[in-house]
Amino acid sequence: MEPAPILEIITEPSHAVAWSARHRRNGPIGFVPTMGALHEGHLELVHRARSACPTVACSIFVNPLQFNDPRDLERYPRRLQEDARLLEQAGCHMLFAPEKEAIFADFTPGTYDLGGLDRHWEGPSRPGHFQGVVNVVERLFHYVRPDMAFFGEKDRQQLTILQHVAQRLRWPVTIVPCPTVRAADGLALSSRNQRLSPDERETATVLYRALQAMAEKAFSAHPEEALAAGRAVMASEPSVVTDYLAVADGATLAPLEDWPASGRAVALVAAQVGPVRLIDNLTLEVGQ
Ligand code: AMP
Repeated sequence: MEPAPILEIITEPSHAVAWSARHRRNGPIGFVPTMGALHEGHLELVHRARSACPTVACSIFVNPLQFNDPRDLERYPRRLQEDARLLEQAGCHMLFAPEKEAIFADFTPGTYDLGGLDRHWEGPSRPGHFQGVVNVVERLFHYVRPDMAFFGEKDRQQLTILQHVAQRLRWPVTIVPCPTVRAADGLALSSRNQRLSPDERETATVLYRALQAMAEKAFSAHPEEALAAGRAVMASEPSVVTDYLAVADGATLAPLEDWPASGRAVALVAAQVGPVRLIDNLTLEVGQ
């Protein structure tokens, strides 16, 4: 087996541009943007990037534009040294870890047409969140100039919005969706899980259990019945406060009155478990 490459750590945006120009000669550059506190979910994106591209970059940038609650931003876990070690082990070539000031120098955030994909779910719960995400992803792409960028289905609405914007604005990058990585008990891996107590960590599996209950009814019972099954599971953990639980069209993410003829739907959930707001989703397919 080839030895893992030495990870280059870059903080200066202009150095990232130069790095990218140097490495593009070897073929496409794969890119995994993150906010750090890396776990197996992030590393799976790096592995997928590695299998598709000879050179892989990852970024760690805790984007202030996408946090609505300043306390959430403040408490977001940060551990750059450990993350760099994990990235090196995973075969990543470059870590772009810019300072906030460097990313926002001479930059006025724009307003993007999100095609109404932010109308539901995370959109109303976190005003300005997706504009913040798209603005920063655009900045990161501007510096790293990837050919392929890997995003998790865990953040389904974010992924769908980025696919939409990239296509609409003809960004010269392919957005590659990657499946959600889960713990053995079904909980979707998330940097925020670290802040759950052992009891809360166990309770948090209710999100996945509710999604599964909905998947069992998908395309056989009415969507309302699927929702009712999910709600019953959520109600079994009274300490968990549901923000939304929904079945939506797989392409438009609009709430469903009936199952779409496309056969593409998604069950979505967001809930507060102790101090942490968690989100998850599951693809629903005919004959699942
Ligand atoms: P974050 O650091 O939370 O902003 O996530 C960075 C990227 O990793 C995003 O594309 C997420 O969707 C993805 N990601 C986070 N958790 C998971 C997971 N459990 N499985 C797959 N991808 C994930």
